[in-house]
Amino acid sequence: MSIKKVTQHPSQNEGLIFERSQTGRVGYRLPRLDVDETPIDEIVPAELRRDDELEGVPEVSEVDVIRHFTRISTWNYSIDLGMYPLGSCTMKYNSRLNEKVARIGGFTGLHPLAPEEESQGALELMYRLQEDLADITGLPGVSLQPAAGAQGEMTGVMLIRAFLDQRDGEASRDRRVMLIPDSAHGTNPASAALAGFTVKTVRSNSKGLTDMDHLRELCDQGGVAGLMLTNPNTVGIFETNIREICDVIHGAGGLVYMDGANMNALVGVARPGDMGVDVIHLNLHKTFSTPHGGGGPGCGPCCCTEELAEFLPVPRIEKAGDRYRLNYDLPNSIGRVKAFFGNFGMMIRALSYIYTHGADGLKEATETAVLNARYVANELKDTFHMPYESDCMHEAIFSHKHQTRKGVHTLDIAKRLIDYGFHPPTIYFPLVVEGAMLIEPTESVGRADLDAFVEAMKDIDREAQEDPQLVIDAPHSTRIGRLDEAAAARKPVLRWQPDMEATAKSAS
Ligand SMILES: *Cc1c(COP(=O)(O)O)cnc(C)c1O
Repeated sequence: MSIKKVTQHPSQNEGLIFERSQTGRVGYRLPRLDVDETPIDEIVPAELRRDDELEGVPEVSEVDVIRHFTRISTWNYSIDLGMYPLGSCTMKYNSRLNEKVARIGGFTGLHPLAPEEESQGALELMYRLQEDLADITGLPGVSLQPAAGAQGEMTGVMLIRAFLDQRDGEASRDRRVMLIPDSAHGTNPASAALAGFTVKTVRSNSKGLTDMDHLRELCDQGGVAGLMLTNPNTVGIFETNIREICDVIHGAGGLVYMDGANMNALVGVARPGDMGVDVIHLNLHKTFSTPHGGGGPGCGPCCCTEELAEFLPVPRIEKAGDRYRLNYDLPNSIGRVKAFFGNFGMMIRALSYIYTHGADGLKEATETAVLNARYVANELKDTFHMPYESDCMHEAIFSHKHQTRKGVHTLDIAKRLIDYGFHPPTIYFPLVVEGAMLIEPTESVGRADLDAFVEAMKDIDREAQEDPQLVIDAPHSTRIGRLDEAAAARKPVLRWQPDMEATAKSAS
């Protein structure tokens, strides 16, 4: 790793906060005590006090702290700064109004252990969100409890397992195969395995769709508990045979789980419940505009058919007359999957998003998301290789095939995009496409931004043909160039130590 000397922007030369430290510098000064000092023993018990000197803490002033963190915050790319075309992640703009609503005192001040009669508003909000999600998916049973997509998946396949155990009794043990297409998100096989299933992979055909013959063949082998399908799938293509796929699985005695992370292509237009899907999870932190990334809280509601509803996690929120209550007394439930009720703040934002859009607005958002992706697909189809001919839905997929002749790969293109001021798209996913670039603009970008992105991609291709080294060495505008990502993941250095700088210098 080399740290380039960049002079364009002062914030780029920011060191560590430890390097700013000056002995004796403080961020505040308190007036002299005009009362007697309370002995430390009366405040902190002896066994909880440290007996060594506090060392190695940076000694800095308030302005040092503010400037340091403000400067490094400008190195982050954020959804508020520009287009964030990460395929499969639906990085749409998060409206400030949602934030405002989530900060209403009655919501933020409510304790999760407050009794039902004092939490009616919050329970009503969750109930209404459940109703709306049921409407949007066409699946009436809803739990808002899962904390994110992957947990929603696990909840979903646990429902399938509970259903099969009840339906088949002892024989359910022989039904433990979960079919998952080769284009699936990596969390799908992980969720299936955690819930006790064995995974078998279904091939995709040359059009990027589920290979129906292979699906039938796997079903004929028996033991099929279900299928975990993403639709539109992870190459952004709508599974046109979705009804038939569901029929085949149901015919084999299994259930269909849909990974709903790509619902941004369907909301207001098509309902998984109408397609024959039995259970789905949604990512409120993608489709319903609640903030995500950086490990922040998510919300991955699980929606299912009437038949599966009795297995949903407890407590269930129920309406009796005009009151709302929590029902813990559901003997067939898979139990709890998350403390309390899930990430309530995300639910407020999602409902705010739904209400501010209304049914028409949600449909329009979906249509715009698809239009934007198709626009990018169309504008770039002569420049970058498109692995599939089918029209894409909310995300467009390309590969580096036209650039590799010059030694330029997907990673180089992604890094060069940073120099052009764009966050790179999702790269090398899905695995079925070699050198994949998965671009999801979402509905929150206008024509001018789309054009700027398309122009940047075309410029990068031109550079790749004429001066490939420029792309291969990118990024050029950042403080740090290419990181050793494998080393960063395997041997993360998470703690600063006084002799670190010397070690880094001698190593480079
Ligand atoms: C994002 C995503 C997930 C996982 O969601 P998390 O909230 O990150 O756990 C699962 N499947 C697909 C297709 C996704 O895009």
